[in-house]
Amino acid sequence: MNGVFVTLNAGSSSLKFAVFEGGSASTTALMRGKIAGIGGTPVFSAKDAHGKAINTGGLGALEASSDHETLIAQLLPWLASYQKDRPLLAVGHRVVHGGQFYDRPTLISPQVIEELETLVPLAPLHQPHNIAAIRAVEKWRPETPQIACFDTSFHRTQPRLAQLFALPRDLTEQGIIRYGFHGLSYDYIASVLPEHLGQNASGRVIVAHLGNGSSMCAMKNRKSVATSMGFTALDGLMMGRRCGSLDPGVILYLMQAKGMTAPDIENLLYKESGLLGVSGLTNDVQDLQNSDDPNAQEAIALFCYRAASNLANLLPSIGGLDALVFTAGIGENSAQIRELICEQLGWLGVALDDASNKKNATRISTDRSRVEVFVLPTNEEAVIARACRELLH
Ligand code: AMP
Repeated sequence: MNGVFVTLNAGSSSLKFAVFEGGSASTTALMRGKIAGIGGTPVFSAKDAHGKAINTGGLGALEASSDHETLIAQLLPWLASYQKDRPLLAVGHRVVHGGQFYDRPTLISPQVIEELETLVPLAPLHQPHNIAAIRAVEKWRPETPQIACFDTSFHRTQPRLAQLFALPRDLTEQGIIRYGFHGLSYDYIASVLPEHLGQNASGRVIVAHLGNGSSMCAMKNRKSVATSMGFTALDGLMMGRRCGSLDPGVILYLMQAKGMTAPDIENLLYKESGLLGVSGLTNDVQDLQNSDDPNAQEAIALFCYRAASNLANLLPSIGGLDALVFTAGIGENSAQIRELICEQLGWLGVALDDASNKKNATRISTDRSRVEVFVLPTNEEAVIARACRELLH
């Protein structure tokens, strides 16, 4: 196929994009970039396939307080002009929530957009931005095929018990089940496991996606068997600003005794909790690590304790552990967090090699460790590009 695919990954305050060659299965993007700080002062940056910064000209400084749709409308013509004579074959989107029925990437139609809109309440921080990105492309080039790749799809292989809440049946039938997220990241990691783990790739593996949003996925035969996130992306691990698992009684108490409204609670649980809430300082792990404030240290300690506990929670689903993989911003870069988590997993036979861990090496466990531990960079964009290629064929 002569042409390129553009991938868009719209987060709550950022937009990541990449361009892939249509005719090749390479997972390396021709270029990738980011608009950070959306909602405040947006900053645009891009790099070529060799990691060299691209001169972004007039797009370097974008207008303050522009929303996702406006910024995407500025980005797309720039991307097209950068690609010059190579036609745009399709745009692939990361879409956070695909509900019960989207178990694979899908060509976007007006009906699909309508269905995605019904899922907004389940992912209020992300889904509206994903839909805004789709609409911006539609307005710019209505004839371009668009493909939605869902963060929930990878988990649709889970056994029924892993998806159920202990709620009355009629609520389950209405779709109140555990969906799980970060599926594009897990899909990518699953695709590279054989390269690094050999036979263990099809064994009992837990992948820890630790970033601003954090979750874990237990895999067997490289398929999702259980995951820490549930109905929404709030459940499970403590995150940058999200609380993770919480006694539901706390929510009742906040409503009944403190008079908090649903929007107040949504804001508290999605934006003011997690590392930010516990430290009282920031959600940024690098800044917390550099701080000598005891609350910063406690936030990191709680993050790691909760991660180790969640991992233990997933073990019955796969009956033990052959390998543990760390990925995403924190998982790929923070030796301290990996060490603090693994220290609490010694009873499982996890032993880290200190020097390899400090270097962010690919394999960071000792030769004698009963569980192999890896650091593997994720590449959600490559999974979106692969889906574009497969669907257009
Ligand atoms: P993500 O959401 O995957 O982009 O991850 C963002 C998180 O990764 C932030 O909390 C960053 O502080 C953290 N992070 C990125 N680089 C490093 C690093 N070198 N050391 C520690 N944390 C890092």
